[in-house]
Amino acid sequence: MIKRFIAYYKPHRLLFFIDMGVALLASVLAILIPSMVRTLLNTHIPDKNIRAIVISFLLMLLIYLVKMVFEFIRMKWGHILGVRMEYDMREDIFGHIQKLSFNYFDNTKTGHIMSRISNDLNTIAEVAHHAPEDLILSVFLVLGSFFFMFRFNAVLAFIALAPLPFMLLWGIKYGGKMRQGFRRVRRKIADINSTVENSVQGIREVKSYANEDLEIEKFENVNIHFKMAKEKMYTIMGIFYSGFHFLSDMYYLLVIAGGAWLYLEGRITPSDIVAFILYVNIILNPIQRLMNFTEQFNQGAASFERFTEIMDIEPDIEDRPHARTFRPVKGKIQVDHVWFKYSSSPDWILQDIHFSVAEGESVAIVGESGAGKSTIVSLIPRFYEPQRGTISIDGHDIMDLKQRFLRENIGLVQQNVFLFDGTIRENIMYGRPLADEEQMVEAARYANIYDFILSLPDGFDTYVGERGVKLSGGQKQRISIARVFLKNPPLLIFDEATSSLDTESESLIQEAMFELSRDRTTIIIAHRLSTVRHVDKIIVLNKGRLVEEGTHGSLLQKEGFYHKLYTKNLI
Ligand code: ADP
Repeated sequence: MIKRFIAYYKPHRLLFFIDMGVALLASVLAILIPSMVRTLLNTHIPDKNIRAIVISFLLMLLIYLVKMVFEFIRMKWGHILGVRMEYDMREDIFGHIQKLSFNYFDNTKTGHIMSRISNDLNTIAEVAHHAPEDLILSVFLVLGSFFFMFRFNAVLAFIALAPLPFMLLWGIKYGGKMRQGFRRVRRKIADINSTVENSVQGIREVKSYANEDLEIEKFENVNIHFKMAKEKMYTIMGIFYSGFHFLSDMYYLLVIAGGAWLYLEGRITPSDIVAFILYVNIILNPIQRLMNFTEQFNQGAASFERFTEIMDIEPDIEDRPHARTFRPVKGKIQVDHVWFKYSSSPDWILQDIHFSVAEGESVAIVGESGAGKSTIVSLIPRFYEPQRGTISIDGHDIMDLKQRFLRENIGLVQQNVFLFDGTIRENIMYGRPLADEEQMVEAARYANIYDFILSLPDGFDTYVGERGVKLSGGQKQRISIARVFLKNPPLLIFDEATSSLDTESESLIQEAMFELSRDRTTIIIAHRLSTVRHVDKIIVLNKGRLVEEGTHGSLLQKEGFYHKLYTKNLI
């Protein structure tokens, strides 16, 4: 894992070395000051050597100026190093997630993906530069300070060593507790967010059941926990800081007391005591940094581990080594004794499904809800792969084709249309981003949505809102039909909306759909009588099995399962 982490430093190694070099030099410079003050007090001032005094002050001024420049570099470029590594990781993880299969998304919460991409990467970026910086700065400042202190006065240096373990222990114990508290608070904020999100998204349900009070109660519950977590955190924070500051004060007191005792014994000069006090001042900051280091490092390591967990997930569906394309695609589909189950459940969802669709033919799939209609059509673009059996297009097994090629040749109109947050134009253009305005307008015309778009004040530039909330179901579906018109694939999969649309929308959609399916091989998951009457063939599914096949008329005559669906008004 360390190797993988270091790999992210590599492209930015120059920045890394500059950052570390500057941190090191800044600590060396900081250590020099007390020693110079001591020489000033011990020698130059008693000697009334004005020249040496002035030179010392000028030198100190120069050191402070250089330190300022170093600090600027460390602050700016250290953080930029973190940001650039974060950028690389974010690109990598987003690109990887794009490649993952439906199976992954079926079993992963969106919130988790979001927090990997935002919180975790943020933490890693901070740790990536702060951890090595802190380590170098602290170790050098502490070691360097003690080097001088031991040179000046070994006894007092030993006295100055004594409080260190206590301070570190204090910091590790309460610092750790404090960060646990912070984490608890963050989790509670996440609970608050998801409660608000759920309630706002489901506001129609809330109101229609008049359950506002219930929602308020639920919210109060998480809000109280948030309040308690925060109060507890501030308690620990109070203990930590007051304790740490008390220990710091005691540190000064101890060094001054030790200095006074040694002075009375005639074993130290006042200027050495001053130098010691200045060194204590320098040491306190790195001690705090060192206390942070372990926790910060652990947190960073945990975040990076979660990052690698996702990066290590192999997409279930990948192109085979010699995956092919072919041209022209005519559109004959053959589904050959296909068996399928989802990875999350042991039950077969499709059993021995066998049928074919000739070039340019329209086929409707009908069946009760849960029969497996959506599942079978999701196998054709290879969103999932069957465990047994094959599916082929124009005689080519889809497993041997390039996924990209396969999906470029299939147009999919989903039942629950997803529109991207953007304009109508952007959403239609999604079908073929390189299309020109004219082609886009033509697609809208074919999809029976052109007049509606023109009636809007902003026309094609109208924002559709998140997931297209500002449009009706029928309008959204027609936009998604326009998208497929623009894509113009030889194969079409159409999942008809089950929820009833108003009659006008319904007929506009059906017209658009028939227009779209002309000269294309089409598979429709059908819920309407008016649809099944128009198709060349109907396939009837029952509990994952294909039970009947034929035209509307012939199937009715048979008086079998289709007839039952028909009489129960299920189509
Ligand atoms: P239909 O489209 O005919 O209503 P589906 O193909 O959606 O039926 O579903 C068939 C069965 O597969 C149902 O029992 C459903 O619960 C299950 N199912 C659908 N999608 C998934 C999935 N992503 N993971 C696990 N089971 C699923």
